[in-house]
Amino acid sequence: MRKAIGIDLGGTTVKGVVMSEDGICEHITRVPTEAQKGGQQVLANILSLIAELIQKSSLQASDFVGAGLGTPGFVDNDGTVSGAENLPGWKGTNIYTPIKERFGLKVTAANDVTAVAMAEQRYGAGRGVNNIVCFALGTGIGGGIVIDGKLYKGTHGMAGEIGHIVVETDGIQCNCGLKGCVERYASATGIVNLALEYTKSASGNNLTPFVEIVRGSPSKVTSKMVYEYVAAGDAVALKVHHKACDMLARAVGIILNTLSPDRVVLGGGVMMAGNVILDTVKECIPRYCWPNIYEHCEIVLAQMGEDAGVMGAAAMAFE
Ligand SMILES: [Zn+2]
Repeated sequence: MRKAIGIDLGGTTVKGVVMSEDGICEHITRVPTEAQKGGQQVLANILSLIAELIQKSSLQASDFVGAGLGTPGFVDNDGTVSGAENLPGWKGTNIYTPIKERFGLKVTAANDVTAVAMAEQRYGAGRGVNNIVCFALGTGIGGGIVIDGKLYKGTHGMAGEIGHIVVETDGIQCNCGLKGCVERYASATGIVNLALEYTKSASGNNLTPFVEIVRGSPSKVTSKMVYEYVAAGDAVALKVHHKACDMLARAVGIILNTLSPDRVVLGGGVMMAGNVILDTVKECIPRYCWPNIYEHCEIVLAQMGEDAGVMGAAAMAFE
């Protein structure tokens, strides 16, 4: 069985794995990212992690198909990182050359959510179909696109920024510079902001327990908390939920009409709320895409767990 090395670069930890093509993982290893020490230190930590994985596997570097790496930001065709604002000094670092020079390994790198999409397509919610789009709903919204079983990276590796699809003209200001990005409404941060906005304007019959708790300690509101009140049937929490889902459905509808994928996979921390979001988004989608396209697309929950990033990275190496 062919084997590859997978690396998932996060803000605090770099995680590595030796994975066979059927998705069996061995030697999962973590080292600190040390992002505050700059890009060269991050790179040095990745190199020593790869050395450790090769040593643990009792194989030679040449026995591996290659290495795959998922990173914040974007990776261009030469392996140079851009974006990645949360890792100071990482931008501009070339990944491919140092790994190739030290280990002779072929490297494939992409945005970390793109890698997750690869894992879902091969081993999770996208199994058995070739065209999927993943939404990762966390602090922001990331995305990954797999077409014909292959990652779609786009020009300069920048495809999949579906969190910044504008769903409202002159909407809420986004960190990216645009206004009305779907991320401003349907990410964890977006849902919290909607909660603050909706509770501020609530009066009369709308002074629900949710409004009281949010007004009482606005800084402690989380999307998880919003969904506890949604589960309890709180009218204002439900309004927040419907707005977030409707905005997300607009973005999904645009993706459907553009790519007509087999499946759209919804994952990330926000989706811990599960079917309540999935079902409402599905109800809203017909307003935003053609019925004959929607008919052929399933909207599903992500299936991969915490190893999705590292498994997807390794999966990229088999491409
Ligand atoms: Zn944006």
